[in-house]
Amino acid sequence: MSGEYETSEKQDTNHNSSKTPMKIWYHQIYTNGIHPDARFPRNRYVKLLDRLKSHERSDLFSFNEPEEVLKSDLLMAHDPKYVDDFLSGNLTEKEIKRIGLTPWTPDIIPRTRYLMGGATAALEQVVEYGGIAGNMAGGTHHAHYDFGSGYCIFNDLAVCALLVLEKYGFDRVAILDFDVHQGDGTATILQNVNNALTISVHCQENFPFRKSVSDHDLPISADATIDEYLAKVEEAITLATEFNPDIILYQAGVDGLATDSLGKLNLTRDAMKQRNRMVFDVSLKYSIPTVVFMGGGYSKPISHTIDAFTDLFVDAALTNGKMVIEKL
Ligand SMILES: [Zn+2]
Repeated sequence: MSGEYETSEKQDTNHNSSKTPMKIWYHQIYTNGIHPDARFPRNRYVKLLDRLKSHERSDLFSFNEPEEVLKSDLLMAHDPKYVDDFLSGNLTEKEIKRIGLTPWTPDIIPRTRYLMGGATAALEQVVEYGGIAGNMAGGTHHAHYDFGSGYCIFNDLAVCALLVLEKYGFDRVAILDFDVHQGDGTATILQNVNNALTISVHCQENFPFRKSVSDHDLPISADATIDEYLAKVEEAITLATEFNPDIILYQAGVDGLATDSLGKLNLTRDAMKQRNRMVFDVSLKYSIPTVVFMGGGYSKPISHTIDAFTDLFVDAALTNGKMVIEKL
């Protein structure tokens, strides 16, 4: 696409989408609730917020602060004892080590409640109004029914999938997980839920080393080319489309970037953009409400992760503008 064409297209979209900003949820505890000495790059959240707020298209976004998640929502997908142990600060050292957000801090507890609240709020938004909404955190796909792992405590994708089916009465939910790591927790929690389709495109050589079984696993090897990666993405999106979902939950991790410290793939910023646009094109074409969950991103320097997440939310918001306009 030429630069000139992009500019003229942007002008059209500018006009429409600024009237219908995309709602995204952020709370300062997303950043501050993680210990400052943790290896996890906690500043990525506030850096992304700053980037989106100062973006030339900041009019595309409506920033919202979440409320704490309802405990009953957590219990949709999780073991009551695990939920109680976490919320009361009674996880064992072993359980904390498996989650890995160390040094541990009690602030993790409210952070998790708000983070999960951001996910369920974004879900409610699209259930009620359609279009696309997002949470500027989460995509916590390594959280299992009764334990957390890989930076994930509760599984926001599984909670939202079960809320959609059991509380909101939707018939079919598709979970597209394009993080470089397999969505193992989501796959196991939802393995017996026929109306929730779990699809994971991930790097075979990355964590988790013991993979779960999703409805569709599309692994690729660490030396895969961008074309091979995008072909898998297309295959995944075709499978999701054939399922005829009422809603898409999109785990949009950008840890497949070549610069990522935890992912072994060699993707570019542009490949990530193409991937995201393939998802949003389907949301638009079939008017499927879509929730964006951030997912992983640990580039060194972190600015590459922020670039890719900025692209993600800008493209989501441009698409949302078109979807809402079409509905009116
Ligand atoms: Zn990841």
